[in-house]
Amino acid sequence: MHGVRLSSCDYNFSVKNMNDLLTVRGHHLFCLLEAICDIELKTRLFTSHVTLNKIAKRIRNTPDIPVRIVAGPDDICLPCEWWDADKGYCIKNLDAQPKLRNIRMQMDRDAISNLRMKEDAILPAAELFQEIKSRITKKIITESICSLCPDVVVCCELYDEKIEAVIESLCETLEK
Ligand code: SF4
Ligand code: SF4
Repeated sequence: MHGVRLSSCDYNFSVKNMNDLLTVRGHHLFCLLEAICDIELKTRLFTSHVTLNKIAKRIRNTPDIPVRIVAGPDDICLPCEWWDADKGYCIKNLDAQPKLRNIRMQMDRDAISNLRMKEDAILPAAELFQEIKSRITKKIITESICSLCPDVVVCCELYDEKIEAVIESLCETLEK
């Protein structure tokens, strides 16, 4: 499908097995970075996030796995303890911050538009993170995607290092 040059390896991507398709909401593409890469961080925000770490591990182990980008619940939310299937939205911290319900959806849409993609676009994971690296700067993520997230300052401090480490990690796996 695409021939893409990553930072330290060449790989011709193709969406080989749609049965393995992952669905990931826009803002989770960035939450996943610290769980995919393997660098020292002052704070690990998602160490105990079981459903996020499960998807991060699948991407780390199979970088050519196809990923569909959505706004709304994904393969991380639906099995998550905070997803309320009856209400159809995430209930985490909503009592204290009711606006979070709409903010999460808006962050998804902002992530997708800043990537210059459309909802439901499907890309192999490694190609997707390469697109993120080339299109999303620290300024864009802090000001135009995650600005309303309570964790934005600590999470985005090492954004450049994290996205670089993700690309390197995926390259390493592809070259094995
Ligand atoms: S349900 Fe809420 S806490 Fe769980 S993964 Fe989704 S957005 Fe995060
Ligand atoms: S700032 Fe918030 S929404 Fe953005 S990547 Fe970090 S934890 Fe996720």
